[in-house]
Amino acid sequence: MSYDPNNIFAKILRGEAPAIKLYEDEQTLAMMDIMPQSPGHVLILTKEPAETLFEMTPEGAAACIRTTQKLAHAVREALKPEGVFIGQFNGAAAGQTVPHVHFHIIPRDHGQTLKMHAREMAERPELERIARQIRAALA
Ligand code: AMP
Repeated sequence: MSYDPNNIFAKILRGEAPAIKLYEDEQTLAMMDIMPQSPGHVLILTKEPAETLFEMTPEGAAACIRTTQKLAHAVREALKPEGVFIGQFNGAAAGQTVPHVHFHIIPRDHGQTLKMHAREMAERPELERIARQIRAALA
């Protein structure tokens, strides 16, 4: 599978598109999902030029899981959801809409209905407010 360097996440990683960033290290970037399925929906991006999990190095995959666990702790501490869904889609057939590997963290309470995947933009001030809570929990 050939990697498209013009996908939106590649642009964010190069600083060519905006993002509400939460955390960054040499191998990963964590940011708010702008069309969250629940308040506190966070994405973890690899910095490897990989479309799916299958093109990643084991080291890149391990780094993503490390950052995903770190952010999941922060989301849980900041927002106190009853549960936390963690997921990752490979290929359009599986539901992937951005062709750059990323993991989803979606906090969820019992009976809470999730919004549709990648459908409805959230208000920027609301995303910023939740981002501040998550960053505070990371600190
Ligand atoms: P997937 O379907 O697994 O590829 O998920 C892509 C996710 O990225 C969806 O949850 C979208 O809401 C989200 N998304 C798309 N564009 C952006 C963006 N510019 N910044 C943050 N999240 C985005």
